Amino acid sequence: MEKLFDKYGVILNENQKKKFEKYYELLTFYNEKFNITAITEKNEVIIKHFIDSALGQEKVGDGTLIDIGSGGGFPAIPLKIMNDKLNVTLLEATGKKCEFLKVVIKELELKNINVLNGRAEDFAKDKNYREKFDICTARAVAKLNTLCEYCLPFVKVGGKFVAYKGEAKEEVKEAKNAITVLGAKLREEYYYNLEDYSRALITIEKVKNTDLKYPRGNGKERKNPL
Ligand code: SAM
Repeated sequence: MEKLFDKYGVILNENQKKKFEKYYELLTFYNEKFNITAITEKNEVIIKHFIDSALGQEKVGDGTLIDIGSGGGFPAIPLKIMNDKLNVTLLEATGKKCEFLKVVIKELELKNINVLNGRAEDFAKDKNYREKFDICTARAVAKLNTLCEYCLPFVKVGGKFVAYKGEAKEEVKEAKNAITVLGAKLREEYYYNLEDYSRALITIEKVKNTDLKYPRGNGKERKNPL
């Protein structure tokens, strides 16, 4: 495992190695029951889930983080393993996946990390969560324009949203209006390759409060993106 991490410049200590090994065991053991991922071959899990998630750590930085549509915990659990100082909230719509996330947290003995079961559109309206986070992350949840409406309401002014994407140039163009309307600015588009895959980390900075009418709800974020 560590050789693959090394290849991408992600250096693990003993404790982190153990946690990633345990995470892989839990993923394969519970995958059928909780329907977490189509990827199960070990090297593929390491590259496409663990390393892909960990490679965002510099862009993500420190602070309070909410991960939208965490699924099996990506990217937030690898980010937490790499940086224990992060205070993490995992938001996931599917109850079964939340059960799995709670198992992982317990078995990996992770602290300052909790799980919310529900939809981003609903939690974003809750004053306990709205504009309360330094960082929001999301991977493989929706197109960037839709995702901005799910994610930016959670971010404090001065904080950021880091979107993990594949080919993203077109999506970034399409999301320009949503970014402005939601009170944010595109800060960085970082494109790189992971094995044969084109990957991107898109960083969007929150510059003013998001109007309370967003997210609009009733599926409008997807059906009629800003
Ligand atoms: N982020 C994980 C990853 O990269 O492996 C999971 C990706 S999976 C394709 C998308 C996840 O987002 C699903 O688990 C789904 O239940 C969740 N999801 C989709 N829309 C959501 C929403 N509006 N609020 C919360 N979770 C959502």
